[in-house]
Amino acid sequence: KPGENPQIRPGLVEEHLCATKGRVITRFPPEPNGYLHIGHAKAINVNFGYARTHGGTCNLRYDDTNPEAEEQEYVDSILDTVRWLGFEPDKILYSSDYFQELYELAVKLIENGLGYICHCTKEEMNKSRGGEERGPRVACKHRDRPISESLAEFQKMKEGRYAPQAAILRMKMDLEDGNPQMWDPIAYRIIFSTHHRTGDTWCIYPTYDFAHCLCDSIENITHSLCTTEFILARQAYYWLCDAVDVYKPVQWEYGRLSVTNTILSKRKLLKIRDMGFINSLDDPRLYTLPALRRRGVPPQAINAFVRELGVTTATTTINVVRLENHIRDCLNEIAPRVMAVVNPIKVVLENLPEDYFEEIELPFKPRDPSFGTHKVPFTRVLYIDASDFREIDSPDYFRLAPNKSVGLQNVPCPIVCTEVRKNADGSIAELVCRYQNVGKQSKPKTYIQWIADCPKAGSPVRLNEVRIYDPLFRHPDPCDKATVPDGYISDINEDSLKIAKGALVETGLWDVIKRYAATDAGKEELSKHNVENIRVQFMRIGYFALDKDTVLSLADIENNNTGSANLVINRIVTLKEDSKK
Ligand code: ATP
Ligand code: MG
Ligand code: MG
Repeated sequence: KPGENPQIRPGLVEEHLCATKGRVITRFPPEPNGYLHIGHAKAINVNFGYARTHGGTCNLRYDDTNPEAEEQEYVDSILDTVRWLGFEPDKILYSSDYFQELYELAVKLIENGLGYICHCTKEEMNKSRGGEERGPRVACKHRDRPISESLAEFQKMKEGRYAPQAAILRMKMDLEDGNPQMWDPIAYRIIFSTHHRTGDTWCIYPTYDFAHCLCDSIENITHSLCTTEFILARQAYYWLCDAVDVYKPVQWEYGRLSVTNTILSKRKLLKIRDMGFINSLDDPRLYTLPALRRRGVPPQAINAFVRELGVTTATTTINVVRLENHIRDCLNEIAPRVMAVVNPIKVVLENLPEDYFEEIELPFKPRDPSFGTHKVPFTRVLYIDASDFREIDSPDYFRLAPNKSVGLQNVPCPIVCTEVRKNADGSIAELVCRYQNVGKQSKPKTYIQWIADCPKAGSPVRLNEVRIYDPLFRHPDPCDKATVPDGYISDINEDSLKIAKGALVETGLWDVIKRYAATDAGKEELSKHNVENIRVQFMRIGYFALDKDTVLSLADIENNNTGSANLVINRIVTLKEDSKK
């Protein structure tokens, strides 16, 4: 009986070992019907990681047996994403490569008396499987038709002589088994749809249940690693390999991963896009891998997060804060620091001459000389962030206020505010301050960031947009009926994207970009208008990355021409975990 013998045909294991030379072979088998997401990062790490640990190899196999949902754009995006995470497939394969082979195995299944063409409707099929009320299961009238008849009918299906759903190939498993996966699942169905690779060659397509295990077998996969919802399907997987007498990989399961305050389902993501809540599936508020990449998240942070969780069979929804902590750890290692002000207010240092100009040397990362230093201008007119000034002072406030002093990052002496000049509408026009470079100064409690107004030195660098992201969903599980009774759409945080215009950055950002452009990799990426590896820490604010909407040419960079560049920057994460979460 299929499924019971470890291997049916003598010599199968030997053939397999001859092909693999005893090495581990795994595969990552996505369906090219959408972008990969954070859960797939686990699947990628599990499959490539297991192979790597055991000196084996891992294939990328596109599971493209459903022509209606699949697109070339997703095929390209998936490979790009796997490589971005740092993995290189040993082979790039497609289930559709095996359509002919799979068809021949289907014929063999029928010839072995273990497959039959069924003409039941969906309703009839459900009913013979016991229906909703789990009644007795009965074989339909097609189950025991002669083999020759099924072979002829299968030929008719292949020739397009049946309408969709008028005929299907079913596997004659075991209606008595307690496992519903064994109740004669469908192997082939009719779909009149152009396939992204095989065009109109086929009008019958294998199901996942039929194709998956046989593709694994054809590729001599040693360990078929999949998520736990396939535990019940394992029995059918083994059954089919035995039924057509081919080598049988072992199937092992691990738990699915997702994170809080988001949804990963492709269908739901498309819905919120079509409703206009997001523009694209790489919107940086999402947890698709292209979205995380666009936001500026380094791939190492994602791998570290996934590895820390380990491989268990539990399905887990991890608090997104844990992912963010990995992102911070990683960015702390790699991101140079520069000063930025998101909401500038003008400061005039009244005791400095009009043309005062000094260069201040700043480290790109304090206490880490490997990052090097850079120079920024210091002049009579500066900008500071509005959040670092208060008109009403209080004893527990240590930044700038009338008659109060504050330190400026890396500037030798503090400044004190002597006057607040207002616009006609009552808003602050500028702060008049004194640079306290005479007399003995007490050491400031706080140092704030500042940016010189010095056009001749290219300062400040103007950002067209700073995009600040908050979680797109308010609840940890937007699909949980108990906490979100009105459904995930009702849980969308419509205030999750805030765009600040008019933010200023010191010229150090330009030094960071120039350094990147001076490397071979940087020059190549920038010539393709790819700015995704330009990540910085804005001191005291957070970690940021240039968004792909940025317009920045190599010529702009060489000529120090910030004027024509259009810089759009994403907040990746805040500097510290938000204690309110
Ligand atoms: P979805 O329902 O999101 O489309 P899927 O399982 O249909 O998920 P595939 O593209 O077929 O998506 O998945 C490719 C591989 O990644 C499969 O082996 C699948 O089990 C695994 N995988 C998918 N989602 C997750 C997840 N959330 N966590 C871990 N592995 C996953
Ligand atoms: Mg899917
Ligand atoms: Mg799938």
